[in-house]
Amino acid sequence: MIDHDALLTADRQFLWHPYSSFNNPPPVYLVERAEGSSIHLADGRVLIDGMSSWWCVLHGYNHPVLNQAIKDQVDKMSHVMFGGLTHEPAIELAKTLVRITPAGLNKVFLADSGSVAVEVALKMALQYWRSQGQPNKTRMLTLRNGYHGDTFGAMSVCDPINGMHHLFSEVMPSHLFAPSPECGFTEPCTDENIEAFKQLIEGHRDTLAAVILEPIVQGAGGMKFYSPAYLHRIKALCDANDVLLIADEIATGFGRTGKLFACEHANISPDILCLGKSLTGGYMTLAATLCNDKVATGICNGEAGVFMHGPTFMGNPLACAAANASLKLLLEQDWQARVSDIEQQLQAELAPCRNYSCVADVRVLGNIGVVEMTDTVVMAEIQKAFMALGVWIRPFGNIVYIMPPLIITEQELGKLTSAMRHVLAQGEKYLGSAQFS
Ligand code: PMP
Repeated sequence: MIDHDALLTADRQFLWHPYSSFNNPPPVYLVERAEGSSIHLADGRVLIDGMSSWWCVLHGYNHPVLNQAIKDQVDKMSHVMFGGLTHEPAIELAKTLVRITPAGLNKVFLADSGSVAVEVALKMALQYWRSQGQPNKTRMLTLRNGYHGDTFGAMSVCDPINGMHHLFSEVMPSHLFAPSPECGFTEPCTDENIEAFKQLIEGHRDTLAAVILEPIVQGAGGMKFYSPAYLHRIKALCDANDVLLIADEIATGFGRTGKLFACEHANISPDILCLGKSLTGGYMTLAATLCNDKVATGICNGEAGVFMHGPTFMGNPLACAAANASLKLLLEQDWQARVSDIEQQLQAELAPCRNYSCVADVRVLGNIGVVEMTDTVVMAEIQKAFMALGVWIRPFGNIVYIMPPLIITEQELGKLTSAMRHVLAQGEKYLGSAQFS
């Protein structure tokens, strides 16, 4: 018999959770298993997962096809070093990624987490400019409210004021930040909207290596959607000023926004693209950084002659097998129709939240549904209210949002949206205290 209380006591004693403290441990719930769109807690409660476990569980939990792909691979090899050795799962994955990502992204670096994929992208940009005889081009330009991960390079391009990393600001490289785009998803981008960005890129072109941004959806910085026209103009400004564009599609990739990749909304192809999260359908920790031939050739012809990065678990075969199976599942279904059904249901069923006095905005794009509150919510309390209604929704700051797995049924999604309406109708009770994650 498993002693659940003893496990939770040991958890509180030994384990860090994301952005947690041992002095005041946040509530954590013991999960026994997860199936389809549901998380089964050890105490018998079953919760519909509105979070896809932070955007990654694309096809739901315990999917037979993904399980089988990993079982098949584990019997062949679970890991081999990628230095000097290669294998079919990695090669197949690279071929697929090159085929489905925006045109020109022909080279694939397999990293082991989203943050590392961003580190790799930043290093690619730096090595590229050194190879071009422009070693002064070392700074990054990015957008306020952006988020790119928790490692050092990634932290340095997260929002320096509203973001989570200001504690480290004195020891991070200092980069440039343009205002967060003010034009919403359906709006045009005016000259005024882009002016601050334009001034920064033109004023610093000699020292700028790259612009890094989350295309169309700024995620952890507030779930803000912005205009494809804005992204289009950024790409043109990057080209005109000899600055690389890094698109961080770690959250938006693989259909979440209604396009396979959010860059497609603006019909642009970045120089470097970061992928992660849904890449393996949420099964294994794997990410990828793709670059175009210009960047790859520059790096390889540069002083080092190689790209200077090589993690131990690079190209892990189990993770690549999971990614191949997940991509096949995605691409062989009519995923656009699936995302569009989810989008329409979210639009219709979240719309009433607009009438609540504690709600500042409701927005939906693809399978992402966001309710922005007028103030920060007390996460532990609002989460309890959601759990009492049988759903797993984890707000942050003033944002209550869901992005369910693609396999969610209409009824399960209905349960999520109805819980949001129900809890947010009395949302004032939960407003008022800063919380993390
Ligand atoms: N970039 C974006 C846009 C993200 O949303 C995240 C994770 N939330 C990351 C990078 C970092 O990925 P990881 O947590 O896998 O390191």
